[in-house]
Amino acid sequence: MRLSELQPGETGVITKILGHGAFRKRVMEMGFVKGREVKTILNAPLQDPVKYSLLDYEVSLRRAEANLIEISPLDEWRRHDEIEEQAPREDSDSSSIRKDRIINIALIGNPNCGKTSLFNMVSGAHERVGNYAGVTVGAKEGVLHYKGYRLNIVDLPGTYSLSAYSPEELYVMRYLREEMPDVIINTVVASNLERNLYLTTELIDMNRSMVICLNMYDELEKSHATLDHEHLGKMLGVPMVPTIASTGWGVNKLLDTVIQVYEMKNPDTRHIHVQLRPDIEQAITAINGAMKADPKLTPRFSPRYLAIKLLEGDPEMERMLSDFDNYHEWIALRDKWSEKIEKDTGEDVVSVISSEKYGFIQGALAETYNPGRHNEEKTTKIIDAFVTNKLFGFPIFLLIMWLMFWATFQIGSYPMEWIESLVSWISTIIGRWMPEGPFKDLLLDGVIGGVGGVIVFLPNILILYAFISFMEDSGYMARVAFIMDKLMHKMGLHGKSFIPLVMGFGCNVPAIMSTRIIESTSSRIITVLINPFMSCSARIPIYVLLVGAFFPQHGAWIFVGLYLLGILAAVLTSRLLRKFWFKEDETPFVMELPPYRIPTAKATVRNMWTKAEQYLKKMGGLILVASIIIWALSYFPRYDAAQVPETFRTEAVADMPAATVAEGQEAVDNLVLNEYQQQHSILGYIGRALDPVMEPMRFGWQVSCSLLAGCAAKEVVVSTLGVLYVGDDDAELLSERLKTPSKITGEAPFTHASALAFLVFVLLYFPCIASITAIIRETGSWKYGAFSIVYNTALAWIASFMTFHIASLFY
Ligand code: GDP
Ligand code: MG
Repeated sequence: MRLSELQPGETGVITKILGHGAFRKRVMEMGFVKGREVKTILNAPLQDPVKYSLLDYEVSLRRAEANLIEISPLDEWRRHDEIEEQAPREDSDSSSIRKDRIINIALIGNPNCGKTSLFNMVSGAHERVGNYAGVTVGAKEGVLHYKGYRLNIVDLPGTYSLSAYSPEELYVMRYLREEMPDVIINTVVASNLERNLYLTTELIDMNRSMVICLNMYDELEKSHATLDHEHLGKMLGVPMVPTIASTGWGVNKLLDTVIQVYEMKNPDTRHIHVQLRPDIEQAITAINGAMKADPKLTPRFSPRYLAIKLLEGDPEMERMLSDFDNYHEWIALRDKWSEKIEKDTGEDVVSVISSEKYGFIQGALAETYNPGRHNEEKTTKIIDAFVTNKLFGFPIFLLIMWLMFWATFQIGSYPMEWIESLVSWISTIIGRWMPEGPFKDLLLDGVIGGVGGVIVFLPNILILYAFISFMEDSGYMARVAFIMDKLMHKMGLHGKSFIPLVMGFGCNVPAIMSTRIIESTSSRIITVLINPFMSCSARIPIYVLLVGAFFPQHGAWIFVGLYLLGILAAVLTSRLLRKFWFKEDETPFVMELPPYRIPTAKATVRNMWTKAEQYLKKMGGLILVASIIIWALSYFPRYDAAQVPETFRTEAVADMPAATVAEGQEAVDNLVLNEYQQQHSILGYIGRALDPVMEPMRFGWQVSCSLLAGCAAKEVVVSTLGVLYVGDDDAELLSERLKTPSKITGEAPFTHASALAFLVFVLLYFPCIASITAIIRETGSWKYGAFSIVYNTALAWIASFMTFHIASLFY
């Protein structure tokens, strides 16, 4: 509860004071100290300031200020006080924790400095880590109970600075403004301080409570560099704690320091000014002075920070301040000064300020940092000499890709067979022992036919993810972006767009989210829109099923062909979009190459486990439900033999192969009833309505239904086929069922040509619902989602039609 919400006559106890350092200091000097009782005297809704009584004197505060003071109602506070006295603090759960012992912590740092690793280590979460920029998008929250405190920790996206340049920076800045975390953990890479500390200088300008986490300390030590971090911390006025986030070393010390800083008991904490050139300092003082005169000035940011950002011409800051009465006056003052500075230096203010800040950092490091020898860098250089080489870079990448897919399909096929036998063993058991009835049908045809058909692909998908995760973690992905840059430019994109595309082989949803690393808006949107053409792992079950059934000898080629076709569609689409929709590209390509790191086995296993968990959850959730719905739609309404019209029967028997007729009257009757049942089920009606569109590729209505169901998730295509093509023998594999001629019509569900056409259709058509949602969310407009649905499905139909007719020439 905030002080501003306290009604007249009510009393509360102060638990926390938010806001920038100078503001906190001022209100504390006024008597608003943690643990003190405060009573509201006068608080009319529209009245500003509000009057409070503290001890025995009265003070008034502006509403915006009172809004940054956190209080606890008196009785609640007393209750907690009693609990504290009785019980030891260590094992207090969250409900009994006193308000002032809840610390909200924000993790801020450059991309790829180990924030998420630290977050996972602290909160026990399993968020994705990866050795390139832009892995974390949005904020992730975690909780840790530690030494009687409840630490709410938030992992934020990586940023190089806090301006309105990229969506992440904006996000982090808004987060800092709206959420007012109590303590910031600024994570920096120990072996790359010069660049990492730039963000630190901005946070220092903000004047918030902060601890610097000197992460990747192992790399610093390995490189034989030395750093007097204690001295550096004292100079910056921010305590520095060395850590190795990937193993957890130093994390407890870090948390101890966070608590110390929060309780204002840290000896190193003080507010310093990052000194800039005299003329800039003058400008800051002038703007600052004008702003301070405004009583409404936000206590959320320090005036110095506001002044610097105004000088830099930060659009977000201008927008934020534009409501103030004196805004135009400030802007005029700002313009006067920046003109002067630009004339004096011949550079724009932003670069002057940033080079001043780098000067400050270099100065601080000169005193405390000794670079030593660069062992680590040497290894990185040697590997890079090959990997990013003009000649070898490309073949090496193709080799790795080939290895990835080979392992996925070849090695994955062994455990797949084991799971397959397990599934058919379970069907046999159920088929033999359960009494007949709709429940048995549901279990056998709905659940096992549906989920069982998909679950067998778990090993393949895990192997694929292991590769992708290794490439991300080791830093290789960043190199791939680098070597692909030229090629991607031909598509009108940047090398950076390549990472989301490779990730798309795993799953399009996180891949689409990771496009946030791309600064240029148009490139980002194009990358988002072409991502669904990257054949994701959910499509693997469909490929394996049909290729196994129809093209066992040429399997590898068909797989390669499908992936390449997807890439080709992406390239074409991208060029078309560049030509007709997004004619301009805004920002040039900047991409850093982080040093290589050997991914820890722990991180890789954790990543794979998370993937397996997700896959199993999807099986138990979406796919199970979809299978049951599909089964129900195809099972109802029920008919009996008397309801089958004579015309249907005669027609069916006329088409029937002689072998079936020879089986006798009863068998024929059963078959006809079954056929009538399926065709006139709810699903049968829906599927047959699609016939006119799907007929040209010879897709039966069952196939159309599976495609329709696949819009929910592509795995559902397989489970639907599993439900709709029920064999005579419960244990018969689905791949067998797909090529067995129907006893009614004598035709198999697929021919070679229609199987190929089907594969192409599945590759290109409607991205799944989750992808569409991601597309709309990332582009901020449903327009792009709609485009993706219509365009992809149309393209799929055309490509599939062509495939069918070309393939028909051969088969
Ligand atoms: P974020 O982008 O800041 O969230 O960084 P991540 O947590 O995703 O980590 C980036 C990479 O650095 C991953 O490959 C981690 O395994 C690795 N990493 C994180 N902390 C350390 C550390 O202290 N030492 C070493 N050697 N590697 C680390
Ligand atoms: Mg991260």
